[in-house]
Amino acid sequence: MNFVLHGSSVSSGITIGYAHLVSSARLEVAHYEIGADALDAEVARFDAAFVRAKDELGALGEHIPPDAPPEFAAFLNLHRMILEDSSLSHAPRAQIREQRCNAEWALVQQMEKLVAQFEEIDDPYLRERRLDIQQVVERVLKALMGGPGLAEPQIEDERKRIVVAHDLAPADMALFKRHHFGGFVTDLGGVTSHTAILARSLAIPALVGLHHARQMIRENELLIVDGLQGVLVVDPDPIVLGEYQLRQSQHELERQKLKRLRSTPAATLDGTPVELFANIELPQDIDEVLEAGAQGVGLFRTEFLFMNRKELPSEDEQFEYYRQVASALGGRPVVIRTLDLGADKTLHMDGEPMPNPALGLRAIRLSLAEPQMFLAQLRAILRASHHGRVKILLPMVAHVHEVEQALALVKQAKEQLEERGAPFDRAIDVGGMVEIPAAALALPMFMRRLHFLSLGTNDLIQYTLAIDRTDDAVAHLYDPLHPAVLHLVAHTIQTANRAGVPVAVCGEMAGDLALTRLLLGFGLRNFSMHPSQLLAIKERVLRTNLAEVQPLAQRVLRSGDPGRTRELLAKLNA
Ligand code: PEP
Ligand code: MG
Repeated sequence: MNFVLHGSSVSSGITIGYAHLVSSARLEVAHYEIGADALDAEVARFDAAFVRAKDELGALGEHIPPDAPPEFAAFLNLHRMILEDSSLSHAPRAQIREQRCNAEWALVQQMEKLVAQFEEIDDPYLRERRLDIQQVVERVLKALMGGPGLAEPQIEDERKRIVVAHDLAPADMALFKRHHFGGFVTDLGGVTSHTAILARSLAIPALVGLHHARQMIRENELLIVDGLQGVLVVDPDPIVLGEYQLRQSQHELERQKLKRLRSTPAATLDGTPVELFANIELPQDIDEVLEAGAQGVGLFRTEFLFMNRKELPSEDEQFEYYRQVASALGGRPVVIRTLDLGADKTLHMDGEPMPNPALGLRAIRLSLAEPQMFLAQLRAILRASHHGRVKILLPMVAHVHEVEQALALVKQAKEQLEERGAPFDRAIDVGGMVEIPAAALALPMFMRRLHFLSLGTNDLIQYTLAIDRTDDAVAHLYDPLHPAVLHLVAHTIQTANRAGVPVAVCGEMAGDLALTRLLLGFGLRNFSMHPSQLLAIKERVLRTNLAEVQPLAQRVLRSGDPGRTRELLAKLNA
């Protein structure tokens, strides 16, 4: 059946391939009756699926990718133990025979019982294990349905596979990093959610917020992911397919052409230099940063090292992680952001869910509430500063006392290292993220205490417009061009420029081609974005006449009207 679904693009480009359904046990599985003479065969089918799931886990255990989180082996062991536990495998066998039902149905019924028992447990860590049970059941279901398992290497044809999921768990990250899928699409998620950040770090076309894709698409159905328009075409007819194949090769050709700009200095037509930096989530993203010719890393999101594991990473492990990036950059700067956990980025050991996580104990608030954890991270960053040009960035500052406390802890971390005789950069710069409207409106008190500012527009938009950035139900209200957002962004850039305090934009607005000239017109000279966007942004900078865009950008600010803003933006980008 030929149809089109609309979602939000989180990673651009076009990919054409075959659907690979990642099953979610929560989704409906079929329920049908098994004839008395077929019961033995049904139980045998159930047993074979368990064997297959065990083999898959065994194969995964033998080929743990070097970049997998250290807890990955423990996570595999836990899944093996769950698979071998009779509470999961025995009851469904009896149920198949007693109720004459199919194996998938019996398995999901048993899973629901176990999950309900786990939900009653007080201990938050044990309670979370219900997610592992669900993941194990999904693996067995996949084997029952005869689809290929995620563990099976299919390297030659993986690039032609498009993962279709209801939602993706952070634990899938290690698997995705090991595979080379052509793209992925999910029913849930907002464009700046954790899922989206993962998609960008994989640099493959991806869409989120498709609502019912997982239910409507069949395994191996031909799909076109159009990450440029936010469209998924299912089972396209030959004319549409031909058109997309053409667009895909044109897009590829343009990307190849852009590579020529790799070592061209970024400057506007009148010669004003513009700094283009890259955002990364993991040390292995550095290759892409170097390939894109970035001037350094403008945002290293460190929280990914802390996720998918039971214990916090030690200071030494963190040091090694940060050192790798600092050394690989060969003298170019890296801005290491201290932990921004909370909201959609949660730890395995997180306790009770917060009533409103985006407004709760997140980012710098969490670090200040856990000073030992924060100090260990600060020491690790400081030690890495001996191996490259490192700066520290504090996420989500809103109060002066938060900055003062954080600076006092930086001082304490320095003293601790001095006592140990460990080398570090004593003059390390410490900056703050402007991502809460309060910070944008009270800039001088931050500028007096910090060396630089970085505008986190993803959160600035979320908090200005009261739009949960992970919730696709309100995704249509997430608007970087809202006059209030533009005022806060322009005000921050202009105030910092007047005071001579370096200011960057490191949120998604920095990598949005439609906004490059507007931001240049506001006075921005430092952009940090995902490396895959960098060369296209550079090309736009090279073709920008500052004298023309500055007055237009001021008119956008003065107009304060969304319709007029879009007209002026079209003029800016003409
Ligand atoms: C932002 O909020 O714009 C930002 C860069 O930080 P994150 O997306 O990691 O919250
Ligand atoms: Mg943020």
